[in-house]
Amino acid sequence: MTNVAIVTGGSRGIGRATALKLGAEGYTVVVNYASNEAAANEVVSAITAAGGKAVAIKGDVAQEADVLALFTAADKLGPLKVLINNAGIMDRQNRLDEMSLERLKRLFDINILGSFLCAREAVKRMSTKHGGSGGVIVNQSSAAAVLGAPALGVEYAASKGAMDVLTIGLSREVAAEGIRVNAVRPGIIDTEIHDSSGIPGRVKMMRDQIPMKREGKAEEVADAIMWLCSDQSSYVTGAIVPVAGGRC
Ligand code: NAP
Repeated sequence: MTNVAIVTGGSRGIGRATALKLGAEGYTVVVNYASNEAAANEVVSAITAAGGKAVAIKGDVAQEADVLALFTAADKLGPLKVLINNAGIMDRQNRLDEMSLERLKRLFDINILGSFLCAREAVKRMSTKHGGSGGVIVNQSSAAAVLGAPALGVEYAASKGAMDVLTIGLSREVAAEGIRVNAVRPGIIDTEIHDSSGIPGRVKMMRDQIPMKREGKAEEVADAIMWLCSDQSSYVTGAIVPVAGGRC
């Protein structure tokens, strides 16, 4: 059986680009998604058309039962070697004093709790302490964790700060158990997540604030993730790699 890679939120954006690259590297890719079945199936078709293996599995990372079902389904495909903790949301551009309890809970549940639950399940399978043979976890941080996103979404920024701490703490917790835990810290990347901000053309509007004067592509983030998954980064753990054109 070939090694398995789970990509949460693998149906679109950065997760999609990463799933395609993992498929080309020979992993059996589990393309997790929340609701966009057509997009997930398109990723699976693209991987299989290129000679790889992939399955789409629906599941809300904020729901423990869904996460357990996701990992149980992946267990049947082969040994889990890679988790890309990618699923995440952004909400409308608002100040904190405009945010409802429901909004805060929803975002923290998906962006933080979901990542913690998935990392927990990955460690149970990868750790030599639990009989596994090691693996790699890559978390999705954001330049927002450093910049704070004032008046844009401090709750989103804070959720990505939590990814930084998860990366640092968990990397040290499992470093002697064969697991490397790292993160990427993307800046403004051209994906559909920016539509949630409620500001049309947000990505283009941000160009002037980026030292490289352009947004990034999902593939450019996926390339950094692939390096963190590879043996080329065999002595790298607890790292948070900026992929932001200089904006962080
Ligand atoms: P995107 O294009 O909006 O894609 C989001 C993906 O996450 C989709 O596959 C979506 O599934 C999935 N998803 C959303 N909620 C989910 C849930 N509750 N359970 C499982 N899957 C869920 O986003 P993106 O821009 O690629 O962002 C991916 C990650 O990178 C996020 O964590 C984001 O915060 C981070 N990031 C992005 C940027 C950027 O500029 N784009 C910058 C920094 C960090 P469906 O297709 O089913 O909706």
